[in-house]
Amino acid sequence: MSRATEYLQHVYAVIEQRDPNQSEFLEAIHDFFQTMTPVFEQHPEYIDANILERLTEPERVFQFRVPWLDDAGHAQVSRGFRVQFNSAIGPYKGGLRLHPSVNLSIVKFLGFEQIFKNALTGLPIGGGKGGADFDPKGKSDNEIMRFCQSFMTELSKYIGPDTDVPAGDIGVGGREIGYLYGQYKRLRGADRGVLTGKGLNYGGSLARPEATGYGLVYYTNEMLNANQLSFPGQRVIVSGAGNVATYAIQKVTELGGKVITCSDSNGYIVDEDGIDFKIVKQIKEVERGRIKDYADRVASAVYHTGSVWDAQLTADIALPCATQNEINGAQANNLIAGGIKVVAEGANMPSSPEAIEAYQAADILYGPAKAANAGGVAVSALEMSQNSMRLSWTFEEVDNRLQQIVQDIFAQSVAAANEYSVTGDYLSGANIAGFTKVADAMIAQGLV
Ligand code: NDP
Repeated sequence: MSRATEYLQHVYAVIEQRDPNQSEFLEAIHDFFQTMTPVFEQHPEYIDANILERLTEPERVFQFRVPWLDDAGHAQVSRGFRVQFNSAIGPYKGGLRLHPSVNLSIVKFLGFEQIFKNALTGLPIGGGKGGADFDPKGKSDNEIMRFCQSFMTELSKYIGPDTDVPAGDIGVGGREIGYLYGQYKRLRGADRGVLTGKGLNYGGSLARPEATGYGLVYYTNEMLNANQLSFPGQRVIVSGAGNVATYAIQKVTELGGKVITCSDSNGYIVDEDGIDFKIVKQIKEVERGRIKDYADRVASAVYHTGSVWDAQLTADIALPCATQNEINGAQANNLIAGGIKVVAEGANMPSSPEAIEAYQAADILYGPAKAANAGGVAVSALEMSQNSMRLSWTFEEVDNRLQQIVQDIFAQSVAAANEYSVTGDYLSGANIAGFTKVADAMIAQGLV
C-alpha cells in the first residue's frame, strides 16, 4: 500500500472513530478522500503537515437553544448550529438551513463542502454553515419572525462582516434573511456586510436570488460545450421547486433546453410542454404552496406522488436541486437507462456514493455540487464587495461576473484533472483544485 493510501485510510479511521454517528459528514469525507490519492502521491509534504486531519476538524462549532413562541402562545424549542469550518482564505461563509432534518452531521458535511466550493470561486472566503431543526413549513409569518429573532439573538455573538457571513439555504430565503438582518441590526447596529441574500432595498445584490440556479446551468453549459454538446433540444429533469430549481428551470429554457419535471418532498410534476418557471415561482415563492398546485393550473402537466428519480423518464440531462442523497444507486441506473448523458448538481451531495459509481461506470458527464452550484456563494461574495464599496452593480454586471467565475471554476477543474492524470473527471478536478488552494494557504500560515 502506498504512503498516500495509508495516510488517507488512517485519517478516515480517526474521523470515523471520533464521530461514528455523523453519517452525512462521513459520506462527504469519504467521497472527497476517494479523489485525493494522486495529490498525496505527488505531494508528500501534505502528509508531513498532516493536512487532512487538520482540515477535517472544524475550527469552531456552536450549538445553541432557540426558544420561540408559537401563535398559540406555547413555548417551543429548536436546536441551532453554526459550524465555522475553515478560515484559511477568508471569513467563514455559508448558508443557514431550516429543516427538521438538520443536525450536526448535516451542518458539518455542508460546511466541509463549502470550504472547497468557496476556494474554487477564487474569492477570499472561508467555509462555514449553520441552521436549525426548525420546520418553516406551515408556520405563520409571525412564527417565522419570532424564530428568526431568537436564532439571531444567539448567532449574532459569533458572526460579523469580517469574521463570518451567513446566507440562505433550504428554508431560508428573502423573508428569513430580512428577519435575521432586522434582529442583527437591533442587537449590533446596521452592518449590511453581516448577511448576504438581503433584499434589494437594504443592501442586497441584483442577481443573488438567481445566482445558484443560473450558475448551475452556466456550469452545465461549460460541460456540454467541452464535449461538443449544447442545450437546444435537450430534455432536462430538474428536482426541487425552491430557489435553486426555479432559476435553473428559467435559464435552461432560455438556453433552448426543455425542462420536463420539478418536484417537492411530496411528489413531482411532468410537463411535456416544458415547465413554466414563472408558475413555479408564483406557487413556491409567492403563495408558498405545493408543487401539486402546478398541475391544477397547467393542462399539460401531470402530478405524481413519490420521487422524480423513480419515474422512468427519457431525458438527456439531470439537475438534482432538492437535497442530499436524493439519488440512490438504483435511481441513477434508471436515469442511465432513460438516456441521461449529463448530471450536474444544484443541491449539495444529492448523489449517493452508489449513484456516483453508477455515473462513472456509464461514462456520464458528472458535475459535482461544489463546482456546479458555486454560483450562489460567488454572488454572495459579490454582494459583500458591493456592501463594502457602498455600490450597487447592475443585474447585467453581476450576471457577467457570475458567468466569468463559473467558466473559471470549470477551467480550473479541467486543468487540475489533467495535471493529476484524471482527465475528464470533473469531480476529482474540483476536489483537487479546491483542496490545493486551501491546503497551501493553511501551510503558509503555520500550524493552524
Ligand atoms: P429551498 O428551500 O428554496 O427549496 C428546496 C426544495 O427542495 C423544495 O422544493 C423542497 O421541497 C425540496 N426538498 C427539500 N428537502 C427535501 C427532501 N428531504 N426530499 C425531497 N425534496 C426536498 O432550498 P434551495 O433551493 O435554496 O436549496 C436546494 C439545494 O441547493 C440544497 O441542497 C442547498 O444546500 C443547495 N444550495 C442552495 C444554494 C442557495 O443559494 N440557495 C447555494 C448552493 C447550494 P419541500 O418544500 O417539500 O421541502
